[in-house]
Amino acid sequence: MSDVLKTDINLDYDVNDSVEAFLPIYTWPKHADHLAKECNNVVVLDEKFQLLIELMKSTIKKHNAVGLSAPQVGVHMRALVVDLGEPRIVINPTVIHSDGEQVVNEGCLSVPGYYKDKVFPQMIHVHLLNEQGKEEVLKFEGLAAAVLQHEINHLDGITMVDSLTDEEKIEAEETVAQILEQNPELYMLD
Ligand SMILES: [Zn+2]
Repeated sequence: MSDVLKTDINLDYDVNDSVEAFLPIYTWPKHADHLAKECNNVVVLDEKFQLLIELMKSTIKKHNAVGLSAPQVGVHMRALVVDLGEPRIVINPTVIHSDGEQVVNEGCLSVPGYYKDKVFPQMIHVHLLNEQGKEEVLKFEGLAAAVLQHEINHLDGITMVDSLTDEEKIEAEETVAQILEQNPELYMLD
């Protein structure tokens, strides 16, 4: 995994617009290659990165979602947001301990409309940088553990589609196509 020196993104937004602005979601299968790419560590929390995380927060709100990772909005950086009541930014996360099992009905903004039960750890300890760039080790349990694990998988290029059967993939592809047709403004269609 290589580090980046600066936030290598080109966003056509002004910081002052970011409350209303949102980023289009990259979806499977159209952006399968993009979503399968491993992300780079964040090394500088510069102005562009701050803008990115503000836009990720407004994007997750727009979708009423619980988790969103940077690659899902086109940026290959190890950053994600979880929102189980209040948005929390997680940067450069590493799972250092996991325990227990739980079955969660997994969904994904990049595979919109499709859900499938999957086994997740019941509890994880994550080493991370918070929004201010401060190192922390946080414990996540229950749904929060599953959401975190799902989003960290994205940073490693792993999506929920990887664990689907061929038959399920066909079903998922049809579902995604319908959602994109109904809400084209929310998704990256190029
Ligand atoms: Zn996802």
